[in-house]
Amino acid sequence: MVCFYNPPRDPHLSRSAPISFRAMEPKFEYLVVGAGPAGLAAANALAAAGAASVAVFDARKRPEEVFGSYPVVLNARGLAALEAVGVDAKEVGMEVKELHIVPENRTVAQVRAYGTCIMRDQTAKLLLDKAEANEKISCFWEHKLMDLDLTTKTCTFELADGSQKAVVAERLVAADGNRSKARRFCEEKIEGFTAELIPWGFQLRFMNSQGVPGQTAVDPANHFVLGDKGYVCQQPDGVWSISLRVLESDPAFLTSNEATEENIQQLKEYVQTHAKVVADNLLDDDAYKKFYECRAFDGVVVKCSSLNPADWICIIGDAAHAVQPATGEGINSGLEDAAVLGAMLKETPEDPFGAFDARQRPNAHALQQLALKAAERVNKPPPRQQAVNVMVTIGLQVAKKLHIIEGTNQDFSIGEKAKTSSKSYSELIDMEARQTKGLRPVANFLATLFRVPKEYPKEEDKVTRRCA
Ligand SMILES: Cc1cc2nc3c(=O)[nH]c(=O)nc-3n(C[C@H](O)[C@H](O)[C@H](O)COP(=O)(O)OP(=O)(O)OC[C@H]3O[C@@H](n4cnc5c(N)ncnc54)[C@H](O)[C@@H]3O)c2cc1C
Repeated sequence: MVCFYNPPRDPHLSRSAPISFRAMEPKFEYLVVGAGPAGLAAANALAAAGAASVAVFDARKRPEEVFGSYPVVLNARGLAALEAVGVDAKEVGMEVKELHIVPENRTVAQVRAYGTCIMRDQTAKLLLDKAEANEKISCFWEHKLMDLDLTTKTCTFELADGSQKAVVAERLVAADGNRSKARRFCEEKIEGFTAELIPWGFQLRFMNSQGVPGQTAVDPANHFVLGDKGYVCQQPDGVWSISLRVLESDPAFLTSNEATEENIQQLKEYVQTHAKVVADNLLDDDAYKKFYECRAFDGVVVKCSSLNPADWICIIGDAAHAVQPATGEGINSGLEDAAVLGAMLKETPEDPFGAFDARQRPNAHALQQLALKAAERVNKPPPRQQAVNVMVTIGLQVAKKLHIIEGTNQDFSIGEKAKTSSKSYSELIDMEARQTKGLRPVANFLATLFRVPKEYPKEEDKVTRRCA
């Protein structure tokens, strides 16, 4: 059971801050930290699986404007998990029919897709509506987790007015995102529990636009991967979303927050060069200007040594296994966690968190591998590795055409095959390892034979060559 009480005053808090402690008496069986898609889905799944009461705490205000967030694609995995808690995202999302891979203005692949494009906050809102209609679930906004006492099983939250609230938890679900504080407290306080964090290595910045009226060149049913440069899709509200990858080493017109004429002009030229169809059909002056007001998103890829660091704590969603956007599995894996957690409570009511860890830990570790592979599509690896990756991709497409393999990793995650045949992340990793076992050494041999450089030329070599 969860209960609230007045904790002793925290001596570390500033004297000037008005601090008061609040006493509340309601009791809850489960405490969920984080009202993102994973936390809200978990609250619904636990309530449906028999939990007597669930309390969800989030640092943010109750979200009202769902289109302020960014678009994501729910694949078969995410859609099935939502369905399990009675949420139909297809009603408010947009069907994604094809994924077009368009590096440097050349369409190199068109892949049939099965998914629903929806805003991240739109998914959370659907789950929130469901939770608020369930009398077993209570939501607390503007409650920021500040401390976790493992001996007394107490979470301390800071409220908007600076006061603190302490809540004793019987069972705690940590769903507070990729920079999870709950996970960090576990790392600090639980011997043997570790979390590996690898930064994405880039940022994403967004431009939004209504598109040129009457344009038909860009089909809203398709999503576009601009090679390693960005991603384009239409949001369910009809607004086009153009995200650009920004590296620390990129020129100022990409990294700056100043909408100067020079920056805007160079940004326009950049989009013309790398995505002409987008520049000609989707963007207007206002969209280019707004690029400089847009918050830049970054993040980390997370791998935890356990998803059940203490018998009363379970870590789910991005807190447990954040990936990076090119993986396409962030929200989907978090929703799946929630569905699995509900199933584990039904199957193993005496230890649902232990059962969850046994089931999902291999998948969480496989996800990290998928995320690091996806990162190679965005942060270009050295030339030989790139050449090997291209040869392996072509080899897999040929093997698929010749019916030597049933499908590739993508077919079973975002493609149509995912509709009829579900594979866990560890099965996907094993399948790809089997499929590429013979291909990779051959590709490596060919890349070496044709003397594709193993590493990028050193900076001074580049300068010498430029001067010559
Ligand atoms: C730009 C971008 C594009 C993306 N695109 C895709 C995509 O196309 N496909 C895909 O599958 N995934 C995508 N993702 C990833 C996806 O958004 C996340 O995987 C998903 O939102 C994770 O859900 P979550 O509930 O685990 O965590 P979050 O969505 O991060 O939610 C965590 C919640 O915890 C709360 N919180 C944090 N700290 C505290 C605290 N101390 N106390 C209380 N509450 C706290 C936060 O306010 C938040 O509401 C993208 C992510 C980004 C940033």
